[in-house]
Amino acid sequence: MNKFFHSVSLIEELCSGCINCIKRCPTQAIRVRHGKACITKEFCIDCGECVRTCQNHAKVINRDFIKCLNDFEYTVALPAPSLYSQFNNINNITDINAILTAILMLGFDDVYEVAAGAEVVTAATKDYVNDHKEQWPIVSTACPSVVRLIRVRFPNLIDHLLPLHPPVEIAAAAARKRAMEKTGLSSEKIGIIFISPCSSKVAYIKEPLGMEKSSIDRAIGITDIYPLILAHLQEASLSPLDLAIAGRVGIGWGRSSGEALALETDEYLSADGIENVVHVLEDLEDEKFGDLRFIELDACSGGCVGGVLTVENPFIAKTKLKKLKEALPKRHTEEHREMSYDDLYWKVDVVYEPVFQLGDNFIESVALMNQVNNIYEKFPKLDCGICGAPTCKALAEDIVKGNANENQCIHILKQQIHEISQDATTFANDSAINNTNTPDYIARLKKYINQIAMLDNDLNREE
Ligand code: SF4
Ligand code: SF4
Repeated sequence: MNKFFHSVSLIEELCSGCINCIKRCPTQAIRVRHGKACITKEFCIDCGECVRTCQNHAKVINRDFIKCLNDFEYTVALPAPSLYSQFNNINNITDINAILTAILMLGFDDVYEVAAGAEVVTAATKDYVNDHKEQWPIVSTACPSVVRLIRVRFPNLIDHLLPLHPPVEIAAAAARKRAMEKTGLSSEKIGIIFISPCSSKVAYIKEPLGMEKSSIDRAIGITDIYPLILAHLQEASLSPLDLAIAGRVGIGWGRSSGEALALETDEYLSADGIENVVHVLEDLEDEKFGDLRFIELDACSGGCVGGVLTVENPFIAKTKLKKLKEALPKRHTEEHREMSYDDLYWKVDVVYEPVFQLGDNFIESVALMNQVNNIYEKFPKLDCGICGAPTCKALAEDIVKGNANENQCIHILKQQIHEISQDATTFANDSAINNTNTPDYIARLKKYINQIAMLDNDLNREE
């Protein structure tokens, strides 16, 4: 059932089985088995929380590096708005131009700001929200992890999703068109390379939403390209090229609430950080919100500036972006605003993926859920994580799915050892006064040996 491509994976040798990550995963996708973490692929939404949590650096994001420029004849960099907030003394368009010029000095042939795509999406969103009152509150689809979360856990909210491509996709399509017109090269010879703040968008380019194939060819992390840009920044600042095309509307998207504020309405809600996002979605499912038009949700704390592939403290980055925004015109140029609205809408439906459903149909799921509840009642409900599952309920589900057994619960194991020990003591006392050379004596002795061997086996299996 693995329908999604994932950017997050595990380096097994580095994992110590400490169970820290299993508690942080918003979809309970991680188990520790045989002393190593493993990700259930169909549950993972590539939010990057486990990458942040793991102190052993055992969780990694599979992304591209600068050498991918060699794969193409002509390359265009797509810097995310959050990139600008990683540098100090970034105050105006001239400073943005210096960053963009430094990117060209790394070997890119052109650069196209994702913020420019964000301005196009803002204009289209305004129209869509006004024209689709029946869908209010409309939920932003700019954060791929949030959309995946809704697809696997909140099927009732799918109808609220804004059916527009995210800014990076719009920028990629515009950048490719401009490159083809400029060079006369065919599309395959042009590489559109996104400079990404997060694991979620790295996964997105392989598994886009609302379309079969993304226009983005590669994704490099901000964290990898940042030191390379920094090395050229001083030189680039001496004579920056006039490359910037976006203004404050698009650049504001790099921080939480930026997308919603750009819509110029007070009837919005924005939340950031994956735990807050889950709470908002639960409340939205329970119809707890009143007359809201729009909901912006960002999986990362602070918005994209808090992405796991950024280098700056997200709170400092947020402040820098706010300051920069205030110094910019609403839009810098009109160049990118010619795109037809038809190009902006999803062409493929985004549907519910029932990965958490226990059975193949409703009746089977209810029967299996009853089994889960019966097993759960036996557990101490401490959610200690020692079994390798994040909660007692998750272990009960694993058992029903045939992926675990009750003895993985250390408390149940302790109880069993206690019972065998008591039984064996009584038996030993009886044997001292009775004849030990009988079939009954030998059978009971064998039973204890088997029980102890099974417990030993269960203990060793989970070490
Ligand atoms: S946090 Fe997770 S991946 Fe990292 S060492 Fe602990 S169990 Fe392994
Ligand atoms: S990336 Fe997020 S959803 Fe995936 S395993 Fe890590 S914490 Fe869980």
